[in-house]
Amino acid sequence: MTKAFPSQAQYVVIGGGIVGCSTAYHLARDHKADVVVLERDRLTSGSTWHAAGLVGQLRSSAAITQLLRYSVELYSGLDAETGLATGWKASGGLRLARRPERMIEFKRQATTAHSFGLEMHLLSPDEIKRMWPPMETSDLAGGSFMPSDGQANPSDITQSLAKGARMHGAQIREQTVVTGFVVKDGRVTGVETDQGTILCDKVVCCCGMWSKEVAGLAGVSVPLQAVQHQYIVTEPIDGVTPDLATVRDPDCLTYFKEEVGGLVLGGYEQNPKAWLPGRIPDGFSFQLLDDDWDHFEQHMARALERVPALENAGVKSMTNGPESFTPDGTFMIGEAPEVAGFFVGAGFNAFGIAAGGGAGRALAEWVVHGEQPADLWSVDIRRFSGLHRDDDWVRERTLEAYGKHYAMGFPHEEYVSGRPRLTSPLYDRMAEAGASFGSKLGWERPNWFAAQGESPQDEPSFGRANWFDAVGREHEACRERVALFDQSSFAKFEISGSDAAQALDWICANDVSKPPGRLTYTQMLNSRGGIECDLTVARLDDDRFYLVTGTGFRTHDSAWIRQNANSGADVVLDDVTEQWGTLSLFGPKARDTLGAVTDDDISHKGFPFATWRDIAIAGHKVRALRVTYVGELGWELHMPIGAMADVYDALRAAGDPHGLAHAGYRAIESLRLEKGYRAWGADITPSDTPFEAGLGWAVKLKTNIDFLGRDATRETASRPLGKQLACFTVDDPEIMLNGRETIFRNGGIVGYITSAGWGYTVGRNIGYGYVRNEEGVDDAFLSSGDYELEVACERVPCTIHLEALYDPDMSRIKC
Ligand SMILES: Cc1cc2nc3c(=O)[nH]c(=O)nc-3n(C[C@H](O)[C@H](O)[C@H](O)COP(=O)(O)OP(=O)(O)OC[C@H]3O[C@@H](n4cnc5c(N)ncnc54)[C@H](O)[C@@H]3O)c2cc1C
Repeated sequence: MTKAFPSQAQYVVIGGGIVGCSTAYHLARDHKADVVVLERDRLTSGSTWHAAGLVGQLRSSAAITQLLRYSVELYSGLDAETGLATGWKASGGLRLARRPERMIEFKRQATTAHSFGLEMHLLSPDEIKRMWPPMETSDLAGGSFMPSDGQANPSDITQSLAKGARMHGAQIREQTVVTGFVVKDGRVTGVETDQGTILCDKVVCCCGMWSKEVAGLAGVSVPLQAVQHQYIVTEPIDGVTPDLATVRDPDCLTYFKEEVGGLVLGGYEQNPKAWLPGRIPDGFSFQLLDDDWDHFEQHMARALERVPALENAGVKSMTNGPESFTPDGTFMIGEAPEVAGFFVGAGFNAFGIAAGGGAGRALAEWVVHGEQPADLWSVDIRRFSGLHRDDDWVRERTLEAYGKHYAMGFPHEEYVSGRPRLTSPLYDRMAEAGASFGSKLGWERPNWFAAQGESPQDEPSFGRANWFDAVGREHEACRERVALFDQSSFAKFEISGSDAAQALDWICANDVSKPPGRLTYTQMLNSRGGIECDLTVARLDDDRFYLVTGTGFRTHDSAWIRQNANSGADVVLDDVTEQWGTLSLFGPKARDTLGAVTDDDISHKGFPFATWRDIAIAGHKVRALRVTYVGELGWELHMPIGAMADVYDALRAAGDPHGLAHAGYRAIESLRLEKGYRAWGADITPSDTPFEAGLGWAVKLKTNIDFLGRDATRETASRPLGKQLACFTVDDPEIMLNGRETIFRNGGIVGYITSAGWGYTVGRNIGYGYVRNEEGVDDAFLSSGDYELEVACERVPCTIHLEALYDPDMSRIKC
């Protein structure tokens, strides 16, 4: 007998592809939740049924790698639980390098794998030949091999997950189309379908390429674009046996795996084709797009060179399937910033089978606890902004990201499409001064400045890139004279209302309830004590505050504040990012420069550190914040956007006699590394607590003000720390640290580098990373070890430092 259509459920998951079924499985299995899955047609009828089924694990984020690793663990044991086979085969994953730089990339990737606890080996062309005999290897520089990668049957895994979900109590309703949502006071409370309405606490939208349209019914933005992705399946080929590893050949833009003695062969072309600018046609289920042999020809030609026996193999079938891709090449999960209780798991960029298991588990935990379970920033839906509601922009950037799927992963690569988008009023002046721009959440920002005769074009490299000397000049100007940075892209919020102070008391770990005129650097913590936000709070008035945070964290931080400030209270959050511009003036000559353009008192006594004042410059009222992220005397000058040109011109003229230089974001990075300032998303994340990060001094545990994360933080502070952030330097200037290098203490792995770069003043490579030890880490433990870093598979000696390398107050360099 068919069960009656449910009128109520705790959680409703929409979409019966691998991601929806995995999320439902984990909600039911791990959380014993009352969950209903709604599928428009039949399970797997979207993108899942036609996936090729390769499962790779390594990503540049530890948490995402962990998530993919969990997928492998799940898939290898799922059939034993559900009785339904998944086709899982741990065939291993082989990557081929044709270009020498690719081999450098693989060496760095292998080190990243070691940092994250995965086995990965480098192989010579001969070893590859022995492992994969039908392959032509004479043009190869080498390759890498990850034994635990594998492949599976996408439909079978999904059916197995669905069965597991049912076994743990979930209901799955096929042939049920979601047509709308019930949203009350900004929170979703129900799902409307063609079978009736289900009232629920939370919704998880896992609708693949339909997610944009389905989430849009609730006012939620899901920036993705369906792109055509093709592969062929061949007849059996001599020498292709079931034990062969899956292969990725990035320099040839192709991938392949064995299937019934033949090959499944696909690729990521640099000229991809979007599918449909508009709505997906009704009834698009278990369907493919027309074969596009002309477009596929490029992959075929390169694959024939790699596996010559392909020449004689017939093609059994071609699959041209639409799949959702995103503007930065990775998926999105988490609670939508627009509607409380509305979660999304979508945009899987052709690795939804690999990610499905782990993403479903992470999403289930996030749904149940209302907080991300680990540092999932790189896949957090809150990394997008209003810009991503522009479909044309999303399409253009997504196609660029698709075309770069197999591009070399150089550090500091910038996208080129859809630019410029948001510019500061000083954009032309900065360009004239030689700016090489980067883009962040739509904003054009100077990364560095080319001198006369130099080209401002980036030429990325795994070694010293072409901007190395230019950034050094800016760094030096900031340390020795004065530098001017256009930081107008900072995300800026005003929080006001009679309950504003109380709300900030609750969500800020530091004490921000200081008198108007004071500034506070603070973190906002989750209930585990992990760092969710890292920002500056200026108290403007008793009931008004100004918050400044990183450009990329605009949606994330405002959503966190809205979510955690008491919803019934009188608290209003206004995003004023585009209304305020910021010029930062830093360096020993910053006071002389600023003093020449204002009559206000900017002496140390009259305008001490961690305060703000309104001062007059060039006839404009400027909100000057005495704060620094570079370790020098200086001010962030915030002003109405229309004042920027006048203030800039005045500062420039006043700074000239002091040797004022323009400087960009790459100089900020090297300056902050020397001074030991932490970067959110790298050194400090929701998985790290302030005491572990060396920021315990910024937590108000000594006050009796209650705050979110207080209990967990007190608990962390009361017992030995399991990990602690430390600074490392490498003396050899030829070795470049880029992040994710493995940290060895007394010969054993204890962590990895979270952020790194060259310190121009100290003349060394600098890296930060957590040192872990189950029995506890303290300064004595840190100082007593012998340390090495694994960089691109080579162990190099390094020195640990427990204090900032550079401290201008003491006018000395500690290194
Ligand atoms: C040619 C090709 C090859 C690929 N190869 C691989 C690979 O080798 N490895 C890998 O990891 N990934 C691969 N992928 C990617 C993989 O297929 C996807 O990432 C994955 O299937 C996405 O799963 P999903 O659950 O997010 O979406 P889908 O499988 O599309 O599921 C979404 C579901 O939502 C349902 N839905 C939509 N609207 C509604 C509504 N209004 N009401 C109710 N239900 C609705 C749909 O019917 C659909 O079943 C490949 C993709 C393609 C196109």
